[in-house]
Amino acid sequence: MFADFRDATAPAGDDWTIPQNWSHYTVEDHRVWDLLFARQQARLAGRAVRAFEEGLDVLRLSHSGIPDFDELNARLFARTGWTVVAVPGLVPDEVFFRHLSRRQFPAGNFIRSAKQLDYLEEPDVFHDVFGHVPMLTNPRVADVLEMLGHRGLEALDKGQLHRLSRLYWYTVEFGLAREDGALKIYGAGLASSFGEAGFALEDEAVARHRFDLARVLRTRYRSEAFQLCYFVIDSFDSLLDALESADLDALYATLDGLPELDAG
Ligand code: FE
Repeated sequence: MFADFRDATAPAGDDWTIPQNWSHYTVEDHRVWDLLFARQQARLAGRAVRAFEEGLDVLRLSHSGIPDFDELNARLFARTGWTVVAVPGLVPDEVFFRHLSRRQFPAGNFIRSAKQLDYLEEPDVFHDVFGHVPMLTNPRVADVLEMLGHRGLEALDKGQLHRLSRLYWYTVEFGLAREDGALKIYGAGLASSFGEAGFALEDEAVARHRFDLARVLRTRYRSEAFQLCYFVIDSFDSLLDALESADLDALYATLDGLPELDAG
């Protein structure tokens, strides 16, 4: 484990990146990855969008255990120009969105313990790599993420990060998509969670709204428990179109005059 890295203050440089230092993971760390990978792959069978299933191939490296980012990045970069960079844990918003704007995905350089397989706290390497990287092999999603990086930096300047964060949350982390008439998972928070992967699709009481940008920007979310609502896109093309054609400044101005919506 990298407990020492998690406690570290900002590493040298302003981007918070650190070497992955792959050789320092323990046998137990790799075992936890393999356990989570096998369990979650089985859990997602029939539940994840095709793009996720196809993207999982990028994680099938020459060895088992936690992916070596150098090897992973050679494959990921060849597909969409994205790379994964190691960080100690959560990074400041500005740092996070700047990485996205440069097609770099910051991944926590530690893994949960075997006693906490259903860990929900800070994103670890399993959430960040298993959850996010398969979708980053899809060209549309790759463009959406970069765009969210730019829009996130702008939102920070304009005092609108709370709204832009909701867009990130309800798409990249907890997004659902309709595919061939069936509801599927594409958000990383769902794809990497054993419990919520089933809950989001199958719970009868939870709300699932058709994706509507203005509504997403208005809707609060919670980070400590399963979501109270999800937003469903028709396709990644339609999501990209909606973001590209949106006048976010006008939307922000309109929404500033309206009450926020609770997820429930
Ligand atoms: Fe995430």
